Amino acid sequence: MLTSKKIYIKALSCFIFLNTVFCVSCTNVTVKPDPTARLTILYTNDEHGWMEATKRSGGAAGLMGLWKEKDGYTEDGPYLVLSGGDLWTGPAISTWTRGESMTEVLNAMGYDAATIGNHEFDWKIEGLKERIAQAEFPLLSANIKDKETGAQADFATPYIIREVNGIKVGIIGLTTTDTPTSTFPDNVEDYDFIPYADALYEYVPQVKEDGAELLVVAGHFGQLEMEELVPVAKELGISIIGGGHSHQRVNEMIDGVAIIEAGGRMSHYGKIEVLFDTVADTVIKLTQELLKNEGGTLDPEIVSIISYWRSKVDSSLSQVIGYVNQDINQSSDAMRNMIMDSWLEMFPSADVSMTNSGGIRQSILKGEITLEDIIGVLPFENNIVELDLTGSELIDCMGRFLVGGIASKTNRLLSDGTSIHPDSIYRVLTIDYLYSREDTPFHKYDPDPENTSINYRQPVIDWIKSVNTTADNPLDLYLDHKSRK
Ligand SMILES: [Zn+2]
Repeated sequence: MLTSKKIYIKALSCFIFLNTVFCVSCTNVTVKPDPTARLTILYTNDEHGWMEATKRSGGAAGLMGLWKEKDGYTEDGPYLVLSGGDLWTGPAISTWTRGESMTEVLNAMGYDAATIGNHEFDWKIEGLKERIAQAEFPLLSANIKDKETGAQADFATPYIIREVNGIKVGIIGLTTTDTPTSTFPDNVEDYDFIPYADALYEYVPQVKEDGAELLVVAGHFGQLEMEELVPVAKELGISIIGGGHSHQRVNEMIDGVAIIEAGGRMSHYGKIEVLFDTVADTVIKLTQELLKNEGGTLDPEIVSIISYWRSKVDSSLSQVIGYVNQDINQSSDAMRNMIMDSWLEMFPSADVSMTNSGGIRQSILKGEITLEDIIGVLPFENNIVELDLTGSELIDCMGRFLVGGIASKTNRLLSDGTSIHPDSIYRVLTIDYLYSREDTPFHKYDPDPENTSINYRQPVIDWIKSVNTTADNPLDLYLDHKSRK
């Protein structure tokens, strides 16, 4: 028989025993939180305003559909959508709105950040600032410095940190150091584009101090420059480098650094999947793919944005100015000669015209030719300038450009069959963009050019109108297919 004291002791020890068991079992069932987290980065570059679908690509609405269907993309899911820059200049639907339409599309697609590409300066700093104000995502660049003060350019955000699924991702933008020669030089004359590595050494410690655990560079530069940056990336702990500018398709892993560039014109996209250890702050696994924008179910919101801008552009640019039976290819002699000769039609006192092939951006497709087509072919705000060059200066220049007024560059013959005389003076047309570039000799040969204030596409529009073409009298009959080499 148990005394009450014994009962008390027994009860107490039982309590201690149970409590111990409870605590032990408590420790045993505690589930450690899963330290791994996933993140998917969707990456495009050089969209150049190609929001509408083409034969080769699903456009922005198709891409959004594809992301949702195939990649499970939702704006509040574990995704980051990034662009390597050159968002706007391209087909008239974007160019005519100075990129406003394309920015609206990118906002609706949920882009988290885009790098400032060289063509983001095509409408001057003011044009860029307008788009920055409209964009619901930051425009990044860490290597644009004010020439006077050496400080970070006030319009460029060097980096951002986004927390996705518990992973703090630092995204740093870098703009091509070619910018002063690949956009209108006057537009960026107040800025230096410093070497990529210098900018990374400057900013990565800050990005880390701000808490970034995974580092991504979105660069507006091509494969070679991305590869050259790998040792710096390794040293600084950068896991992913996205590219742009060169419109290449790049998909490689070098020394554990993922390198990706997705062509251009929304034709492809990069998909980078990261498995991350949020306790150790390290990448467990990094996989990457380069995928074609085959177009999924069209996203209704993007469709409605595009159709709004399509009808706006149609109402102002649908005027038919001519007719052609066969496509005029972007890089064909017929296209080049038509453009160069039209300038001489408008400025008959000039002897020769010269431009670069980079200013010609699209083909003209067979059928009716509209104003919109020509804006797509020649989308830049380039004006024609008149220069006086000696024959020997002309000979020095013409080797590197497309020409009008010349029958043969090799034989140094003008269109009328006469030879170029080294000491004679020739009136030469080119564009202000080329004139201002440091790497062309125009400014050296004629420091006092005459700016005509005529956009380089206007003579082409006027000439096509003047020949009055129809299906029975197509433009094909008026094109010159001969090479002027
Ligand atoms: Zn570019």
